[in-house]
Amino acid sequence: MSEKIAAVVWVKPRRRIGFGSAVLAGIVLAVVVLAGGFSSASNAAQTRGHAARSGANAGRSGANAGRSGARAGRTATNAQQQSINAKVDGLLNRMTVGEKFGQLEMAGPSTPTGSDLIPLAEQGKIGTVLDLTGAANINAVQDAAVKNSRLHIPLLFGLDVIHGYRTMFPVPLGESATWDPAQVAKDESVSADEAAADGIKWTFNPMVDISRDPRWGRVVEGAGEDPFLGSAIAAAKVEGYQGNNFAAPDRVAATIKHFGGYGAPVAGREYNTVDMSTQQLFNDYLPPYKAAVDAGAASVMSSFNSLNGVPNTANPYMLTQILRDEWGFGGATLSDYQAVQELEEFGYASDGEDAARLALTAGENIEMAVSMTSTNPVFNTYATYGPWLLKSGKITMAQLNDAVRHVLTLKYLAGMFSNPDQGSASRYASDELTPANQAVAQQTAEESMVLLNDNDHALPLSPSVGKVAVVGPLADDALDQLGPDVPIGYSTTQADLAADGADKIVTVRQGIENAVGSGNVNYAAGCTTFTVADPCNETGGFGAAVSAAQASDVTVIVVGEPAGDSGEASSRSDIGLPGQQEALIQQIAATHKPYVVVLMNGRPLTIPDLAANAPALLEAWYPGTTGGTAVANVLFGKVDPSGKLTMSFPRNVGQIPMSYDELPTGRPFDPNNKYTSRYLDVDNTPQYAFGYGLSYTTFSISNVSAPSSVSRNRTMKVTADVKNTGSVAGTDVAQLYIHESDTSILQPVKKLEGFQRVTLAPGQTKTVTFKLGPQNLGFYNNQGQFVVEPGSFDLWVGDTSAVAGTPATFTVQ
Ligand code: BGC
Repeated sequence: MSEKIAAVVWVKPRRRIGFGSAVLAGIVLAVVVLAGGFSSASNAAQTRGHAARSGANAGRSGANAGRSGARAGRTATNAQQQSINAKVDGLLNRMTVGEKFGQLEMAGPSTPTGSDLIPLAEQGKIGTVLDLTGAANINAVQDAAVKNSRLHIPLLFGLDVIHGYRTMFPVPLGESATWDPAQVAKDESVSADEAAADGIKWTFNPMVDISRDPRWGRVVEGAGEDPFLGSAIAAAKVEGYQGNNFAAPDRVAATIKHFGGYGAPVAGREYNTVDMSTQQLFNDYLPPYKAAVDAGAASVMSSFNSLNGVPNTANPYMLTQILRDEWGFGGATLSDYQAVQELEEFGYASDGEDAARLALTAGENIEMAVSMTSTNPVFNTYATYGPWLLKSGKITMAQLNDAVRHVLTLKYLAGMFSNPDQGSASRYASDELTPANQAVAQQTAEESMVLLNDNDHALPLSPSVGKVAVVGPLADDALDQLGPDVPIGYSTTQADLAADGADKIVTVRQGIENAVGSGNVNYAAGCTTFTVADPCNETGGFGAAVSAAQASDVTVIVVGEPAGDSGEASSRSDIGLPGQQEALIQQIAATHKPYVVVLMNGRPLTIPDLAANAPALLEAWYPGTTGGTAVANVLFGKVDPSGKLTMSFPRNVGQIPMSYDELPTGRPFDPNNKYTSRYLDVDNTPQYAFGYGLSYTTFSISNVSAPSSVSRNRTMKVTADVKNTGSVAGTDVAQLYIHESDTSILQPVKKLEGFQRVTLAPGQTKTVTFKLGPQNLGFYNNQGQFVVEPGSFDLWVGDTSAVAGTPATFTVQ
């Protein structure tokens, strides 16, 4: 048996305004192919370690996390839509109150196989599952739900698939440095296929939080500081995960997180308060969420933080007014990890019952309870207190049904009803870590690398350079090279990582050995330990590193942060290179032999000494599975570095938060006037600006041409010539910035409103064309309304936000 359902999943939202990404889709057609029959997967149980969350998180007793569901169209616009709605209605009519609340609960396993979830599934006490991996495990729990629960409603299995499932891509901050949304979409389609092959049909990604504070560890998961670029990448990721039909075997439902404003915690401290103006929220922080909603994201996860005094888990302004009423979001909402219960900890809810009421009535559909059996505290507040809340009239049946409807619809759209066991051992074997998948990862890694310094052409190295010393704690560290967000289920045991070909991770050491021959490489880690607790504090190995440098013609030093220094719950107040790594570099430099530095880290670092002294400095982020090959290809000039920063690198932490798009002041910086906006002890400018990145060639951007005026409801065309003025081929990223003055509220000194990657042969010129429409020329006012005001604009096209020179000008009438 098979049936096909095509549904308009989300009707065109009542938009305040669209955002400027070409990848946005106002209406998403979801073609749900429901193929009957169960696949008989016999995947050997995967009992992989929980890498990401081994810390002492008091609230979490299990080793889990997850999310779910989408709601089909708010308005039944065609037969297919109505068909899903009818099926959902049919189920709702037959469900008990207990079963309804069960659908709203997300649980995680407390054993590796998830066998503890089986009774819960059979009793209809859970609707979705997080953090269970391995098709055999998933299918066993699924079968319990489908075969043995009263109404046979399938579960949906979710996971944090952040930048890869088996083939690991560069961390998201690195992906964003490609300025290549189409490539990023490819990453996510590979991730989707790999995850789905193992039974995961729902990812808790993309994380689209804008952040201007690199102390916050989670900047590694996002696309940086800029709303325009962030919106393009957010939409691309949704498209990559879901395609136009996330029931397809190689697609998964996406979740936008963390809604909203999570990237601006006070002082960069994880989980801390967010307090911001309406205009900042709407202009800087909400656009990527909106872009991802417009692209058809299946679900939205609320954030842990409070926003302007209200915890977002129970924030009706965010979850209902903005998300549903303003943006027309039709999918499912879910809390973050045990966040409903935490409303009590906030002192916002008086008890668990109150927490459940506040969250549910604010518009939180799914509770990520995780530990269903915990009684102190009670994490599954919906199921525990919901029936009483209903009986006592504190919530209505309509509210409950609305939430359940979103969950069931998401499951229909994900194809769970007709094909509940989507993963299998054979799919896992055939789809994971394929050469094609690795090739995508390698291209992204190559595009993501940002050349920060290249004095006197220290790079590229000649492939016939002779002996190469490869030193530093991250030169041959397969696991840290993947960054902090390897998914649960990914084996992180050294034995497995080291096993021949197991994870196919190429370290920098291996990449360089492959490039010049292992006989030409002298390797020494230098640091004896490299952990968060002891990040190269011991200098005992430095001698060997110095000897390696002395015995070689050039040294490649690979330093950075241990992966655990970034990611969730990894805020730092000092964002310099940890431990004695700078001392290691100084000792290598003291040999007076040539050296170059490669950085692997998850955030902008404060590195004034390296910026001043390193002959060459290549920001490689955590580059993923194929990272070592990508680094070697860039170092030896096979690939021209084309990545550009998506977060400013500050000179010191005192400058934070910082972003290139600050508002003007009445006393702009004047070096000759103390009473202007400045520091006494550091320049105002960043060490490395947003949009900055060198290449092995040079470019000029000229002939910027724009009309002198445009009416406010029209679109104008801007052109500029990008020329490769050097002697090798290369790729530049042309970036268009605007500033409007004389407006009702101040506008950023510059804001990005267009970008294009341009690949040019030596001497070649290409004309790039940008379109600026009302969505680019307007802004949100302090009432949260989008307005396009008449005014005078400056416009620059450059390849860094620090673009200098006389701007083009035009007016909007
Ligand atoms: C994180 C989310 C994540 C969830 C499930 C939470 O702690 O904030 O980003 O999706 O756990 O793993």
